[in-house]
Amino acid sequence: MPNQLGFDGGVVIPNPYPVEKVEIIQAPLPNQVVLPLQQRVGDQAIPCVKVGDRVLTGQEIATTKDSFCVPVHASVSGTVIAINEQVIPHKSGIKSTCITIESDGKDEWVKNPGCGPDFLHCDTSTMIEYIRISGIVGLGGAGFPTHTKVARAQDCHTLIINGTECEPGVMCDDALMQYYPREVIRGVEILLHICGASRAIIAVENDKQEAFNSLLMYNHNERISIVHIPTKYTSGAEKLLIKALLGVEVPSGGFAPDLGVVCQNVATTKAIFDAVVESKPLVSRIVTVTGSGVEKPNNFEVRLGSSFDHVIAMSQPNKRSHDIRMGGMMMGVDVKDGKVPICKITNGIFVNDQSKKPAAQECIRCGACNQVCPVSLLPQQLYWYAKSENTDKAMDYNLADCIECRCCDYVCPSHIPLAEYFSFAKALHRKTTDDQYRTDIARERFEFREYRLERNKQERTEMMAAKKEELKKKMANDKAQKNKVAAAMARVKKSKKASDDA
Ligand code: SF4
Ligand code: SF4
Repeated sequence: MPNQLGFDGGVVIPNPYPVEKVEIIQAPLPNQVVLPLQQRVGDQAIPCVKVGDRVLTGQEIATTKDSFCVPVHASVSGTVIAINEQVIPHKSGIKSTCITIESDGKDEWVKNPGCGPDFLHCDTSTMIEYIRISGIVGLGGAGFPTHTKVARAQDCHTLIINGTECEPGVMCDDALMQYYPREVIRGVEILLHICGASRAIIAVENDKQEAFNSLLMYNHNERISIVHIPTKYTSGAEKLLIKALLGVEVPSGGFAPDLGVVCQNVATTKAIFDAVVESKPLVSRIVTVTGSGVEKPNNFEVRLGSSFDHVIAMSQPNKRSHDIRMGGMMMGVDVKDGKVPICKITNGIFVNDQSKKPAAQECIRCGACNQVCPVSLLPQQLYWYAKSENTDKAMDYNLADCIECRCCDYVCPSHIPLAEYFSFAKALHRKTTDDQYRTDIARERFEFREYRLERNKQERTEMMAAKKEELKKKMANDKAQKNKVAAAMARVKKSKKASDDA
């Protein structure tokens, strides 16, 4: 392990809305929950309930066979009152099919299978199946199905548990590590068992001393180490974390498992414990509510599918108009309003007093953006290419490696939304490449058709010529045969006449 844990670039941003004590408040049961069937990746799950059905908390209500998709569970007990299109938390404000359940206030749970506390006696495939049927996805924001990730990491040597939580203002993982250290450590042991890794490293930023101490107190496993890394945004990005902890670089276009490493978020690790040991599917999560628009920033353990408004109300919002953002202030996305449901990747809700964003000015070529890029790109250069839609050139400058962390935006004195340009340029390049691919395929199809027609024509001509030749030969043959017969008959006739004359 390198002496100096860290990476180049990044920015230090103190929590803009600090709290005296990091807590977790249990949110009251919502009156209803809205559960989207489409997760971040994979196919949409298929409902296995209908309107009017009574469901129990933790019951599977939508199922799937796609390995990149997970089932959906009722997060309260009650009655299914709708299966229809609803606005989901997405920057474009799109609608998606959701199941709405009206809570009966009883919170009656279904009985699910699990390994129990003696989980080491369960085989790994059984554990992976429990993770799958519990609907667990990466809770750090990626939303990738956990069962698929761990199933592909069977030969890894190092497990990294990401407890960095580098997004300024978000403190749900900090709270989780402070209040559920036993579950986190047991979750790491389950992952070690599944992946066969020889060691696990839990990485915690050095401004989360309470969380660090809690984990330390509950860790009695010598294969698990807990390390501090410097508090700097974007320490939690997977490739940067691997570099900071192990001193190795995941190459451009490569993945952590290629190097024998698997990373899991700390909240996902606790969810794995809940699924495998406690037999509980993922029906709730901890969400930070913060921002200039609330009096009491805090963390709330809330049922999935509750509305943003339900949880924001507990943080005492002021009476002004607000901008609402899901996720962190850096990598989060703006949502249209507070009616959208909390989903598995909602780690934070920023409620900010509405304010006018400063207008973007011309680039003054100060180079500040180049200093902070954590993946060593040249944002200033990329900006020119992205702006002029020269995406090939931007790709030559490794645009694909941009993690859209917005460090460059943050320091830009001209307030240029650089990451937005990069996101747009990537999408444009994908489209151009797809269009080019489609054009190439269409041209190849056309050329092949022309070639096929030409070849058919040539084959037909050759075939006709061959037939003609064959006919000619046959006719010549027939004629020769006829001549032979005629000659023979003439000879017979002649010999008959000779014998008659005699
Ligand atoms: S948004 Fe992209 S270019 Fe800008 S600092 Fe982050 S990784 Fe670098
Ligand atoms: S920080 Fe902004 S103004 Fe300075 S070089 Fe980068 S894009 Fe230009």
